Amino acid sequence: NKAKRKAVIAGNWKMNKTAGEAAELISALIPEVAGADCEVVICTPFTDLPVAVSKTAGSNISVGAQNVHFEKSGAFTGEISADMLTELGVEYVIIGHSERRQYFAETDETVNKRLKAALAAGLKVILCVGESLAQREQGVTSELVALQTRIALGGVSAAELKNVIIAYEPIWAIGTGLTATAEQAEEVCKTIREVIAALYGKAEAEAFTIQYGGSMNAKNADELLAMPDVDGGLIGGASLKAPDFAAIVKAAS
Ligand code: PGA
Repeated sequence: NKAKRKAVIAGNWKMNKTAGEAAELISALIPEVAGADCEVVICTPFTDLPVAVSKTAGSNISVGAQNVHFEKSGAFTGEISADMLTELGVEYVIIGHSERRQYFAETDETVNKRLKAALAAGLKVILCVGESLAQREQGVTSELVALQTRIALGGVSAAELKNVIIAYEPIWAIGTGLTATAEQAEEVCKTIREVIAALYGKAEAEAFTIQYGGSMNAKNADELLAMPDVDGGLIGGASLKAPDFAAIVKAAS
């Protein structure tokens, strides 16, 4: 079953790299990931998107943003609309990253609105879900991640779902070096697939790409990606160095 799914390795650069630095990193990355047998995406800061789109033209690297607003236009100072992204040639957008939820007051409801606006504009979405350490210790991980998934996908059709992938990112594993074990990652990714099956049917769930994210690196990627329900990775820190990111791409190929 896994062989039928599209593996996607996506870099989440977060608030790193000026446009000039982005150009350098992309130049280094292109030859390293050429010929990869998985989909390769880099999600850059907004200000790097034009250079990322032009630099990656003709390569196998797709470009994504890290957030998008749900309104089409108007008095929303500091925000970026989906049309602004698609016009630049941006293909993907991360929605609902835990840092957005934690530091920028995003809720399951605004995540759902952003997701629907992004899909309506033709963007592909990397939807992030995941529990905090306290939630894991309370034993509510499965219920919480299932709820986040259901609310985020509210009103999303089966046809639209083809442009969505989900990244399971335990908050305690992000940027901490505390990677989830392969078994922990598998357990939650499997739960997410069951939620997709309940909402959309078994065939849709089998075709659905689910990533793991949280301190994934060149050393642990093989083991995580070998799990039956882990179809890729959302990579933060290790996406900022071309050889490290390329090693993870290779592990997925
Ligand atoms: P990390 O970040 O790989 O640095 O843990 C992952 C993410 O937040 O997407």
